[in-house]
Amino acid sequence: MKKTGILYIVPTPIGNLADMTFRAVKILKNVALIGAEDTRTSAKLLKHYQIKTPMISYHKFNERSRVEKFLDKLNNGEDVAIISDAGTPGISDPASIIIKDAIENDIKVETLPGATAFIPALVSSCFNTERFYFAGFLPEKKSDKDTLLKELINIEDTIIFYEAPHRLVKFLSRLREVFGNRKIVIARELSKLYETYYRTTIEEVLANPDMITLKGEFVIIVEGAQKKEYSDAEIVEMLQTELDKGESKKDAIKKVQEITGEPRNRIYNLALCLENK
Ligand code: SAM
Repeated sequence: MKKTGILYIVPTPIGNLADMTFRAVKILKNVALIGAEDTRTSAKLLKHYQIKTPMISYHKFNERSRVEKFLDKLNNGEDVAIISDAGTPGISDPASIIIKDAIENDIKVETLPGATAFIPALVSSCFNTERFYFAGFLPEKKSDKDTLLKELINIEDTIIFYEAPHRLVKFLSRLREVFGNRKIVIARELSKLYETYYRTTIEEVLANPDMITLKGEFVIIVEGAQKKEYSDAEIVEMLQTELDKGESKKDAIKKVQEITGEPRNRIYNLALCLENK
């Protein structure tokens, strides 16, 4: 049987050019072809490391047709490497289709360990790293966004988001509406000259957005839900607040259940008591 090549998934620096591993450089020098998200961005990296391997773009709009080209090479026994603009390909960038197709075509895929933005942000956040949830960029559609955020309200794991600077404040307002106030760490410009960690809360930033320099790249780490014991009186007060806002009994129960994570039966019974008062 003919031997196929290996598809290498190669992480590249997220800001500091020196964050490239020896193995990554060696592989990029030795493969037959490099697939890059944007060849102009990656050209600087290749020049810095004197990598002369041919490179083609797999930008998301032509990704499918490029996959065929990569598969031809791989089926011909040649190795191919995939890089993205920054960090690990396949993490919040368009490399995942190529990886999926390669695996479906029985091509061996080797992903190298290396740079990615969320790991340093998570570790430096000092929040729980035992269990975490990588949410990346929120979906674009508002309804999908809301569905995901609501699913995350009660998880106690640390949550990681990627967001663009011009959407950061809007993103935090939405987070405030759904999660309430939480401790957050905003990691800006990791591994670059102006690397900054803002250890703060959602409300503190919303009250004073100027405290953040809204330029560059951001990872937002949100502390997981703190398991709180809710007294009956607290639940009744929350129900009353929802009813005062004009919510129906059913919606008030649903909202309080989302916020507290308490069993529906308990909230329902307290709503009945409130009604009979
Ligand atoms: N593949 C990348 C990775 O492994 O992290 C992520 C690519 S995604 C298209 C780009 C997003 O990653 C940015 O909008 C930002 O949220 C985050 N990011 C990338 N580089 C960063 C940096 N130096 N500092 C902070 N966040 C960064």
